[in-house]
Amino acid sequence: MRTFNFAAGPAMLPPEVVQRVRAELPDGQRGGMSVLELPFTGRGFREIAAAAQRDLGELLGVPPHYRILFMHGGASAQFAAVPLNLAGPLDKADYIETGHWARKAVREAGRYCDARVAASGAAEGFTRVPMQDEWRLSADAAYCHITTNETANGLEYHWTPDTGGVPLVADMSSNFLAGPIDVSRYGLIYAAAQKNIGTAGLAIVIVRADLLDRRQCAAPSVLNYSVQAASDSMYNTPPIFAVYVAGLVFDWLKRQGGLTAMARINRRKSARLYDAIDRSGGFYRCPVARADRSRVNVCFTVAEGRLEAEFLRQAEEEGLLNLKGHSAVGGIRASLYNAMPEEGVAALADFMQHFAARYG
Ligand code: PMP
Repeated sequence: MRTFNFAAGPAMLPPEVVQRVRAELPDGQRGGMSVLELPFTGRGFREIAAAAQRDLGELLGVPPHYRILFMHGGASAQFAAVPLNLAGPLDKADYIETGHWARKAVREAGRYCDARVAASGAAEGFTRVPMQDEWRLSADAAYCHITTNETANGLEYHWTPDTGGVPLVADMSSNFLAGPIDVSRYGLIYAAAQKNIGTAGLAIVIVRADLLDRRQCAAPSVLNYSVQAASDSMYNTPPIFAVYVAGLVFDWLKRQGGLTAMARINRRKSARLYDAIDRSGGFYRCPVARADRSRVNVCFTVAEGRLEAEFLRQAEEEGLLNLKGHSAVGGIRASLYNAMPEEGVAALADFMQHFAARYG
């Protein structure tokens, strides 16, 4: 039976990428060493890292005055690195609280600067993205932080805020590479790798060069953007396997037609599931406002809560794996990152229809 992994991250990788890892790992092309054994200062790894950086820059159209950094510690390390690099302890930073991950980001930032919630969807149970005219921004904020896709709550910005002269900082961990982005609208973008980029252990940061030396930086050197930029992200031993896998994924994406092609496919995949939810006569419900529904994390509930466990059990029997919602939110969540094929989504939509017909 074919299985499909709907996990939110670590998530499924493109099967071709896994095949390539399998084929290349034991090989001796790199002077008798596998990629896991390469010194990071040697030519072998430097070429891998440079190619990954070049391909990512090409995929996203990263302008020349931005730097791409490969960093440690996942996205959570960036929750601290952003305020440590961009703000001082007394500086204000505005956060838009759209869900579980934005809340974690603002709480962590509060340890290092005057982090403020400039708008929040909490009162509505994080079911929509507050519109920009509801935001109470500080004109003198060091930056404004958004979470472009809330992985646990299933909502996504389908627009780019305009914060004027205040740099816009975005946690794009779960929708990075789901479609094209206008990088020039952001001061800084970061994303953990284990969803749409590759394997855990790596976070990608894209930062506008003028923000690198903005202030005397209190960040530890491994989290210091200037230090990492000056050393080509090799201030210390990088997560070499994660960088290698990211490079394979970027190469795969280029061969799929790039991010415009991915956006088209992702829209089709998520529309198929939202249709299955909306046409179920209330058997399934997605609490998120239609305009803000995520393309990559489709969250829903089964109207009769007691059926949820049965839904998950039967789905697993059908090879539809890891559909349980985030523990902070509950319900069901189907993560549809780039590696999830349309057949997987079709299989889930069919299963949902049959389950609803049987129990509805
Ligand atoms: N931000 C978002 C939007 C996430 O989805 C996650 C992980 N699910 C994180 C941050 C934290 O990532 P990490 O586990 O790499 O620290």
